[in-house]
Amino acid sequence: MLVHLGVDDIDSPRGGCTTHFIYRLLGKWLDDPRVKLIDYPNLIRLSPGVPWKTRGNGALVLRIDTSRDPVDLFEEALVYAEEYVAEYHHPESQPGIALYMGEVNDVLKRFSNKALSDIIPSTLLERILSKLGDKILYKRIAGGHRGLIGSLAGIGYRMIDTDYTYELIAYRTEENYGEPRRVSKDSIKRMAIAMKGKTFLNYDWETDKPLILPHGPDPVLLGIRGEEPEYVIEAYSMLEIEEPVEGAIIFRTNQHTDAHLMRINNLGEAFIYRSIRIKVRVYSKPRRIRGGHVIFKVTDGEHVMDVAAYEPTGGFRKIVEKLVPGDLVEVMGVVRPMSSSHGPTINLEKLHVIALAPRVKILNPRCPRCGSRLKSAGKDKGYKCPRCGFRAKDLPKEIIYQDSTLEPGWYEPPPRAFKHLMKPIERFGREKKEFPPYIMPDKFYFKGEPLYSP
Ligand SMILES: [Zn+2]
Repeated sequence: MLVHLGVDDIDSPRGGCTTHFIYRLLGKWLDDPRVKLIDYPNLIRLSPGVPWKTRGNGALVLRIDTSRDPVDLFEEALVYAEEYVAEYHHPESQPGIALYMGEVNDVLKRFSNKALSDIIPSTLLERILSKLGDKILYKRIAGGHRGLIGSLAGIGYRMIDTDYTYELIAYRTEENYGEPRRVSKDSIKRMAIAMKGKTFLNYDWETDKPLILPHGPDPVLLGIRGEEPEYVIEAYSMLEIEEPVEGAIIFRTNQHTDAHLMRINNLGEAFIYRSIRIKVRVYSKPRRIRGGHVIFKVTDGEHVMDVAAYEPTGGFRKIVEKLVPGDLVEVMGVVRPMSSSHGPTINLEKLHVIALAPRVKILNPRCPRCGSRLKSAGKDKGYKCPRCGFRAKDLPKEIIYQDSTLEPGWYEPPPRAFKHLMKPIERFGREKKEFPPYIMPDKFYFKGEPLYSP
């Protein structure tokens, strides 16, 4: 029987990690011949707009062909999840678990597509649960329903007709939790160069910092993101890891596919917390505000909305500042709620410059007598020459057409500003195009020592 086990929000700001829970759970199940994975473990990132996410808003799903009783399987996973949560539980996390029997249906599929771009109200969750009837087993392990929403949404996102990538995650041994991560920086740089095109977002060269090492007390030592399982294994084997590892696992994931961006044609559909992409015209000149953020207005012809490139996006703001009213662009990002100082604002995570409006500079006319640039003589009083005193009322202004230093094309923030779902421009053209119904995992689970061999 085909079953899908989803878990979410097992992690918390204090430690623990849902991927680590799955790593440990598989440690128990992989030796059981009655539990056969029909896919790599899935790591499904959900809407980045949700205001309460702990770190990444990601659900984990195991898709299993099993001869065991699904109720037993669910109970076993539940008991183990409760143990894990007891160790790491944080009052703000809302862990949940669900097991779905059979192939994913359209109800679940639509639910998860919505959870990728939007906020799911608990009323919708209740409706879906009642529609799924006895095909679903579930439990809110602690707190509210957020983890349960994630579990169901993860189950519904099969990635058999959408783009996907892989991530290898390695875990630390417990005595090192909270300690600085000991992975040779030089080896990360060498790997990033050697594996360019096969892996991505490994290193931020501008700030000279590795991107594969998280910060914080969680069990994750490092994560390597790439196009294929063999690439992330090869990259992992190049790293000089100077601390013991519990092991490593490879997830198939919707990370860095832009799966969260809902295409809309009308800013009226740019609801708060929704992730969107829309073609619009620039409506006001970008300006830099306190804190270094760059803000401009866009219009769809009917509505006007603010777009912001925030300070952490670094040099990306310089590109944005070159926009002028009339430019045709596609903007992508999460809609942030209004505050006392601004309306709803699209948090710009990628920019597509489609067509440039003419860049014009309008100048006062030159003096017909001496050639100096005339000055205004005051409102409705015409011009006056600052050099020879010539006065004139109705001379036409001089219009200068300038070449833009901005080219049509795609622009993105530096790698360090990337969130889990954002697709880097370097991945354009590498999107998966073939989708076998089952992607049988081969080498994906490693115990103990790192793979480095000098
Ligand atoms: Zn003059």
